[in-house]
Amino acid sequence: MDPWVRRFVLLRRKTRRGFPLFAATSLSALVAVQAAYPFGTVAFGAFASVLLLLLASRTLDRTRAVDHNAWRDAELGVLLVIAAFSTVLHLDGSFDGRFYPLVYVAIAITSAFAHPRASLTVISMCLVMTAGLRVIVYGGLNIYDAIPHVGFSLVFGLLNMVSLRMEVARLRKASRLELAEESQRIRDKARHYRLLRAPTRTNASHEPAQEQASPPTQTAQRDEQRLLQSGVEEIQLSVLLSLRLLRQCLGGHTVMLLWLDDAARQLTISELVTDEIELNEGPFSVQDGILGAVIAQQRPVAVAELKPSYVLPYYLDVCPVQAVCAVPVYQHGSLRGVLAVDRKANTSFGQSECRLVEQSAHFIARAIENERVFVQLERTKVEQGKLYRAAETLGAAVSSQEVVDAGVDSAREIAAVDFAAFTAYSDPPAPLPGVPRSRGRHRIRAVRGERALELLGSEFKENTGLVSMALRNRHPLPYRGEYDPRNQVVFTNGIEPPDMPSLLVLPLVVHDKPLGTLVLGSYTIGAFGGSARGLLEVLASHMAVSLANARMVRKLEEQARTDGLTGLLNKRAMLDTAAEKIRAAQRFGRQLSVLVTDIDLFKNVNDTHGHDVGDVVIKELGRIHDRVKRATDHVARFGGEEFVVICEETGPEGAQLLAERIRNEFALTTFHTRGEPIQCTCSVGVATFPQAGETWEALFKAADTALYVSKRTGRNRATVFDESMTAA
Ligand code: GH3
Ligand code: MG
Ligand code: MG
Repeated sequence: MDPWVRRFVLLRRKTRRGFPLFAATSLSALVAVQAAYPFGTVAFGAFASVLLLLLASRTLDRTRAVDHNAWRDAELGVLLVIAAFSTVLHLDGSFDGRFYPLVYVAIAITSAFAHPRASLTVISMCLVMTAGLRVIVYGGLNIYDAIPHVGFSLVFGLLNMVSLRMEVARLRKASRLELAEESQRIRDKARHYRLLRAPTRTNASHEPAQEQASPPTQTAQRDEQRLLQSGVEEIQLSVLLSLRLLRQCLGGHTVMLLWLDDAARQLTISELVTDEIELNEGPFSVQDGILGAVIAQQRPVAVAELKPSYVLPYYLDVCPVQAVCAVPVYQHGSLRGVLAVDRKANTSFGQSECRLVEQSAHFIARAIENERVFVQLERTKVEQGKLYRAAETLGAAVSSQEVVDAGVDSAREIAAVDFAAFTAYSDPPAPLPGVPRSRGRHRIRAVRGERALELLGSEFKENTGLVSMALRNRHPLPYRGEYDPRNQVVFTNGIEPPDMPSLLVLPLVVHDKPLGTLVLGSYTIGAFGGSARGLLEVLASHMAVSLANARMVRKLEEQARTDGLTGLLNKRAMLDTAAEKIRAAQRFGRQLSVLVTDIDLFKNVNDTHGHDVGDVVIKELGRIHDRVKRATDHVARFGGEEFVVICEETGPEGAQLLAERIRNEFALTTFHTRGEPIQCTCSVGVATFPQAGETWEALFKAADTALYVSKRTGRNRATVFDESMTAA
């Protein structure tokens, strides 16, 4: 930014509080000038009085010093400009005289000292007034006259805009900093009272990625912050109440709770109640003095007849008190701090008084401990709520994709997840005798976050990477959550997640059957430590069960659509497909052919060789259908030894070719039975949409009619339907 603009903005920020003074002085000067030159109009006298009254009321108003209000600045600025205009008119008798720059001076003063928003208002008003007054006085506007005024106003308007922006940015930054400081203060206090678990460090080099932390994580952070804040406030309330009571009872001067740091080397003031104006804020060493004595001896210490030269570390100058009593504060049997009471009167703290201080220390420790338990309970409640919600969404998910999505969403509620991948595992084929077992395969089926497109669909064999090992050992990896992207392989060499300081691979296993893994990554150091890891492990087990259920559902659905003997579509699935394909053919005006195949004299096969052999024959005809059809054709076993094929975009000639190939291949197949080998034939009927029928029923009936013709004319043949057959 231009240094001059910066200077202007800085000057203005510094001098803004002086604006009323400047405005008052300038207005008085203007009014004085007008008074010195007698013009004798009662109207102007009245105007000046109103101005001065308003100005006085604004200047005397004390609250404006606290609340620097843009609206009030605007009022003053407008008054100033009006006064300037009237003075110019009075002195020059026109707007072209040598006193006109007074108007500019008024604008400049407002620009320099008023709130930016106020100056913008004043400048716009000034422009309107210039135009208005000129129209009134001269009966019209001369564009060339207006140029200097507009130019001057524009320059100041621009300066004000820049200044306004800088002002807004400054305020935003200030409030952000204030919030961050407040939150840090609460965290420090919470750590102090052990409401917080292990400190979570964040990685400074990954700041931008942290900014993008998912909304659920931010909500979680806010919840935690609120919990800590209320915990800290509760503790402060109880501690302060105890301190006040103690001071009241013992006639104390200062009553103070001091807390030991983790290394037990320093004491910091936690809460205090005092009459002293200025205190040394600490921290204080535990090496010497009365505080040191309490820590070293771990028992109450009371001293009296103190001289002003006595050193009590929390007083800055001379020691203002003559007696002091300090007792240790314990929690779960370990020393946590010191509670100190002193008084100006030279009466030493007796045994009963020391006892009272000790009891207060005990009470304070209990209050802190209770709050700690409460915060922990609340946290557990929140965590269980998350797991409950996760279980609910996972339970509602029916497809594998839905399960993975729900799992990843839930994981993001639990930890700051920036990357997630789901790998599916497929067992190696059963080994042949004497052949070593081959390795299973992992396939990356879903990825969220960076490099998603690149990783999706990648496959790799079982190896010594984290994914393979976690699944093989049925244990989340890395152990203790320490992950080093340079030395650890996650998927396989060449296929790796983005570099992140935190990573967790959760195996998804149900009834000891490995399904795959959920890989979570985060730019926050230690994102998967503490309770998050336990929660994520529970989440993974829920996810595995839901995944197994989803697979089961898919399998059942598949079974409901396929024929058990041949693995082809069954009749119900075929009817669905047929309806859909006919609709498509109708919409796009395309041809579609239907083939109906039936084995010839099949009863004889069953009767002579038994049903088992009959089944083998049916299976083989199914296989032939599947082999000779095109990828876009659909084959179903429609009933006993009857098959149906739907061929999209196929006319009668193409369909007959296919029918002939089926018939031919089947006729050439020899079945070896316990008795002599047998050969079978089949007959086929073909009908094409829309010539043979415009609905599925009509089309199928036509194909069946053609099949009947094949049977009647000697079997082992394919017949295409034509109109004459219906007549016959
Ligand atoms: P046609 O040449 O006129 O078709 O004579 P066909 O004997 O084949 O007569 P049809 O098609 O009516 O015969 C159907 C027979 O198929 C009846 C039944 O015994 C047999 N069948 C139906 N389903 C099965 C099955 O699942 N397995 C076996 N082995 N036979 C079946
Ligand atoms: Mg039949
Ligand atoms: Mg038959």
